[in-house]
Amino acid sequence: MTRILSVASECAPLVKTGGLADVVGALPGALAALGDEVKTLIPGYPSVIAQAKSTKTVGSFETLFGGPAKLLSAKVAGLDLLILDVPHLFDRPGGPYIDANGRDWVDNAERFAALSYAAAHVAREGAGGWTPQIVHGHDWQAGFVPEYLHTLGCAVPFVFTVHNIAFHGNVDAARLSTLRLDHTRFNSDHFEFWGQISALKAGLMGAAKINTVSQTYAEELKTEAFGMGMDGVLRARSVDLTGIVNGIDTAVWGPTADPAIKPYKTPRGKAANKKALLKEFGLKPSDGPLCVLVSRLTHQKGIDLLLDALPALLERGGQLALLGSGDPALEVALLELAASEPRVAVKIGYNEDLSHRMMAGGDAILVPSRFEPCGLTQLYGLRYGTIPLVALTGGLADTVINASPAALARGVATGVQFFPIDANALANAFARLCDFYVQPKLWAKLQGNAMKQPVGWETSAQAYHALYADLATG
Ligand code: ADP
Repeated sequence: MTRILSVASECAPLVKTGGLADVVGALPGALAALGDEVKTLIPGYPSVIAQAKSTKTVGSFETLFGGPAKLLSAKVAGLDLLILDVPHLFDRPGGPYIDANGRDWVDNAERFAALSYAAAHVAREGAGGWTPQIVHGHDWQAGFVPEYLHTLGCAVPFVFTVHNIAFHGNVDAARLSTLRLDHTRFNSDHFEFWGQISALKAGLMGAAKINTVSQTYAEELKTEAFGMGMDGVLRARSVDLTGIVNGIDTAVWGPTADPAIKPYKTPRGKAANKKALLKEFGLKPSDGPLCVLVSRLTHQKGIDLLLDALPALLERGGQLALLGSGDPALEVALLELAASEPRVAVKIGYNEDLSHRMMAGGDAILVPSRFEPCGLTQLYGLRYGTIPLVALTGGLADTVINASPAALARGVATGVQFFPIDANALANAFARLCDFYVQPKLWAKLQGNAMKQPVGWETSAQAYHALYADLATG
């Protein structure tokens, strides 16, 4: 049994902008089944405070990065939470990282430094009589934890998980003092990165063990093409870098007991959900596959490739239903396409319930990402018998079995992969998908294989459990 303090900027179901929240929200339950005890430290955003109905104050700071702060404990949705209540940093409208106009909060470095500082404080002093044996930080928002552990003279080991190397949390060196960082460690062995302060690098250099969310991404990160400038750091730390693929919370995502859908046990049950989904998106029944996509709309996610390749799907009678938000230019391009093309329907926004209905009602789920550390929507797709059509990269490479002639002959295929990651290869993949779709026996076999593939946390939770046990002190 290991006591772990998990530190993150989001946690489902309380606050979520992407896959990080799902992982942080689901892993504690899977670890509890193995005897580990996890408390999750998250910022006290207004929505988090509102959902924590009954809280207990287990710590306080007279001043934390410019104002008073409290540490609250609460139990929400089965999670043991420590909530960092710092009104001057977190009690504001907008998202976890951006204001209502979509701009990053200018004090993001201080906001998440405060979270990291509080984590180090709990590691040393405990909270409500509980002390962790491991601090497990997620992404750059927890990157300064080892720096503050060092400042506070605390030897509790730090595990760092990279969910996406694209976000570095870099700021100007002039903020060394306001961030309470040790000036003597502003060098390339710690948190200096090309003359700037980098929270991500601090985490990578200070962690006892680093992991990322798939084995392929762990290899990709060490290359110039995928490392986003951190590849040198990761090559230097490669002995301590592993890949542990994400699972999904099968209590929340699964076709047999999903309150947002018409439940089903076999792929045949998808028909009623498809009918409802077509209606919801204003699409007409057609001869080709209904492809769905649920995503942040960014360059990473390959939406521009999708737009270029889409004719190959539409000319075979296929359709697209898309839910997402993000880059305004992509939002406009998608809405314009939907306005002129009756086989394409687009909803801009964030809608958890609708995303469930899309998994149940779609024939195929698209993930054409340029890079994808793990990816979760293809895992949901597998579970709902919604065939993933994905780029061959990162976790998409590790979780989908491409319908190659060999895999089809052996009867093990679960989806379609394309490579290289460009519009041409995606168009070819659409053609293959449509070929499969019009062969009902083959399609049913793909769906059956997909639904049988284990996508829960069981195996990966064992890997985290072993990682913690190896490092745990006290
Ligand atoms: P990333 O973390 O890069 O955004 P992932 O595939 O790992 O990508 O996780 C994305 C998560 O966010 C999934 O749970 C997905 O269903 C959800 N999601 C993304 N966009 C939306 C949206 N517009 N509405 C509802 N859920 C969304």
